[in-house]
Amino acid sequence: MAKEQRTIFIIFGGSGDLAHRKLYPALFKLYIKGYLREHFAVIGTARRPWSHEYFRQTVMESIGADIGDQEKISAFAQHFYYQSHDVNDASHYVALKKLALQLSDQYQTQENQIFYMAVAPRFFGTVASHINSEGLLTKSGYNRLVIEKPFGRDLQSATELNNSIAATFKEEQIYRIDHYLGKEMVQALPMLRFTNPILEAIWNHQYLSNVQITLAETLGVGERAGYYETAGALRDMIQNHALQILGLIAMEKPAEFSSAAVHQQKSALFAQLPLYSASEVDHNFVRGQYGVDKRGNQTAYRQADNVADNSNIETFVAGKIMIDNPRWRGVPFYVRSGKRLRQKTTRIDLVFKTSSNKIFTRDQLRKGNTQPMVLSIFVEPTQGISLTINGTNPGMGLHPFLHKLNFQQSAEEMTNSQEAYEKLLIDIIQGNQTNFTNWQEQEYTWRFIDQIRQRWDQVKAEFPNYYSNSFGPQSSVELLAHDGNEWVWGPESVQ
Ligand code: NAD
Repeated sequence: MAKEQRTIFIIFGGSGDLAHRKLYPALFKLYIKGYLREHFAVIGTARRPWSHEYFRQTVMESIGADIGDQEKISAFAQHFYYQSHDVNDASHYVALKKLALQLSDQYQTQENQIFYMAVAPRFFGTVASHINSEGLLTKSGYNRLVIEKPFGRDLQSATELNNSIAATFKEEQIYRIDHYLGKEMVQALPMLRFTNPILEAIWNHQYLSNVQITLAETLGVGERAGYYETAGALRDMIQNHALQILGLIAMEKPAEFSSAAVHQQKSALFAQLPLYSASEVDHNFVRGQYGVDKRGNQTAYRQADNVADNSNIETFVAGKIMIDNPRWRGVPFYVRSGKRLRQKTTRIDLVFKTSSNKIFTRDQLRKGNTQPMVLSIFVEPTQGISLTINGTNPGMGLHPFLHKLNFQQSAEEMTNSQEAYEKLLIDIIQGNQTNFTNWQEQEYTWRFIDQIRQRWDQVKAEFPNYYSNSFGPQSSVELLAHDGNEWVWGPESVQ
């Protein structure tokens, strides 16, 4: 059984989608595992005038019957309290403070408080400043702020947001969520890299030809079109998730596996992201927007509700990032993310250089060719690692044959693995910031992204330019072909 943690969660946006779909089920799992037992309470705040009872009912409904019996769910829900609240009304914060202090006493939570921003980003700064001005921060316990994405929409707005929360919370109190950092295989990257000498040895330009990071979705924009029209794939997926994965792959070895040391190395890496000129953006980044599928069953992005008929917003991005340091000089990092692609997958492919040690002639290889080795790390929907190596096929002589050494987690192991939000919540209550993003990382990644965004805002794209249910636009294939490379995840590898 886990060690019990004493705390009060104050969730702004407690009636919303994120809270019900992700947070309450994850908190319940923490309850089952014993991180939360008797000494905790959750205050949900939102505009609607709900009673505690009604709120508890919605919390119970949000927890699937498959993860706990009704008695446990009901006992868990008794720890939930509702406070009707308008983020702009100072008097509501006074009422909230009173309730929090009363519950702190009742549940003996030692004045530990976690403020969770599950409201629209435009409220983040307002809430943080009211927490300060109405004196909600406790003196004897800890006060932590959890903040969801998006963290700004460019460097300037991210800086303003950061300043507005930094007036109340210190960096060591702020937990910026990037839920990809809660995924099992993403968290496994440092272990993989730094405990296996065979991998540590090849993790550089001497052995690797290129690195590919793919975050592919099959779904379209759905009901999020209103938000998406103000964001696009570059802001929504690349600035945060894709670059955070890149950071864990490309950073230098931290002196120890601590939050400070990991963030120091990741920030140092992000400081080296190239600052592209307009023509370099054109050369290194491509964008796409989905149209209908080839059979005409799926509608185009521009046909979605709340999307302009001539929308210039990208639903697909592929880009090439060169990190000019001794480890990675000459190795392109290709990042790619898109909606309505053929398959849902998040994966990292490390493509090796071909051996320069060509002792075999093509004739000796019976006219065949050896292939570059590829190390693939599968993040979702399956989790695992595969390594393709050249060998021979028994009975075929010296004919090169590609073998796949495959480790896939079983369905049972997958069910046992914790959801991203569960892992991140455990980190928050234990005060571990390793799997969250810090301000410096945000600053450098936005600086990088802004160059691309500014260029794209100046030049109208020819959209739509890829079919739904495809691998994205042709320009994404050409981006790699230009360097003599090709995507590992593509029509050839997926039936
Ligand atoms: P939502 O619209 O479902 O919920 C918003 C909540 O804010 C509701 O509880 C609403 O009552 C409350 N609210 C709105 N105006 C208010 C006001 N003036 N005063 C007090 N409360 C007010 O939104 P959501 O999808 O739950 O998203 C919440 C946050 O989480 C956003 O920042 C979003 O970007 C982020 N996020 C959500 C998801 C997701 O899966 N839903 C994923 C990643 C990030």
